[in-house]
Amino acid sequence: MKTRAAVAMAPEQALDIRELELDEPRSNELRVRIIASGVCHTDAIIRDQWYPVPLPVVLGHEGSGIVDAVGSDVAGFSIGDKVVLGPAYCGSCEQCVSGHPMYCVNFYDRNFGVQRPDGSKAFSENGTPVGSHFFGQSSFAEYTNVVAHSAVKVPNDVPLDILGPLGCGIMTGSGAVLNVLKPEAGSSVVVFGTGAVGMAGMLAAKAAGATTIIMVDIVESRLEYAKELGATHTVNSKEVDPVQAIKEITGGGAQYALDTTGVPMVFTQMTNSLAIRGHAALVGAAKLGTEAKIDIGTQLLAGINVHLVVEGDAVPKEFIPRLINLYRQGLFPFDKLIKTYKFEDINQAFADSADGSTLKPVIVY
Ligand code: NAD
Repeated sequence: MKTRAAVAMAPEQALDIRELELDEPRSNELRVRIIASGVCHTDAIIRDQWYPVPLPVVLGHEGSGIVDAVGSDVAGFSIGDKVVLGPAYCGSCEQCVSGHPMYCVNFYDRNFGVQRPDGSKAFSENGTPVGSHFFGQSSFAEYTNVVAHSAVKVPNDVPLDILGPLGCGIMTGSGAVLNVLKPEAGSSVVVFGTGAVGMAGMLAAKAAGATTIIMVDIVESRLEYAKELGATHTVNSKEVDPVQAIKEITGGGAQYALDTTGVPMVFTQMTNSLAIRGHAALVGAAKLGTEAKIDIGTQLLAGINVHLVVEGDAVPKEFIPRLINLYRQGLFPFDKLIKTYKFEDINQAFADSADGSTLKPVIVY
């Protein structure tokens, strides 16, 4: 069938909306009519080739939509089901079977290989293959084919057009907090970076009952919004030393910390701002080969724990429904991070994300 899709043709160039051919879903796949798709910082860094993903490719990996066709071997899905799409995983390696599919040993190939394991691509243009299955989904298309086990059925009473980011950015920040850091009620949490990922971490910390929630950034307007959404303190690290400020606020250091910036200096600030036996998580992406400093002499005695976290170490089928439950109860208002755009305005959405004016752009088809 024909479908419109936004194709990344060359590094640092605008995505091009083109009419492509979509092949038939394989026996283990669903064809999904995409209703909306979030734009994530990771789409931009792949467009710009921080990871060597072959171009041309249909990006997009925060899709929500409606099942349009069901492969012959798929159980548990019917045409018309509403779904959020999560990352791809093999389902059979030791990480997948032990409940950590976001560390699937085949994660890179399945999500950044932009083809099926058999080498085929779902999209083509005039007979020339175009990369598909980016993050398992390539959701910058009106229709796409996805492996069924990466789709998560969602209830009818929540608006489908806001749910896509639960499949990546929102899951990453909130999962790093709820699945990895696990702050106790009454504890202190510091989050570096107030983009959608950091804000999701902040909302999760609040939902978990943390009572000191410090947000650190270099953009004052984002810090102000973080305060509106629940931060107890904000620190502009362009103006003050964040490590000193965090130690003063917490009386010695934060118990939990999250770095969503991927900036090496911020990683060092994060580890230096922890309390004794504090626990930190890094989710911010950096170019391959990026190194960050940690003072192992001092930190050994502090006994800190540092975790590098992919996709919130979530099991999407279990975690996304939990986030929806929190949202329904008003405890996780992630919709306040979203601004919607028309498909035709997808490059504006990328630009507004890059300059910080929009936290979480969502393309509505
Ligand atoms: P974003 O660009 O909207 O937010 C990053 C924030 O960091 C911005 O507000 C920026 O002002 C702030 N920042 C930059 N430099 C800083 C500094 N020196 N000190 C303090 N703050 C600083 O991005 P986002 O959508 O929130 O995503 C955050 C990161 O998470 C990206 O790198 C993205 O690729 C990554 N990510 C990782 C995973 C994963 O599985 N680990 C999944 C999704 C996204």
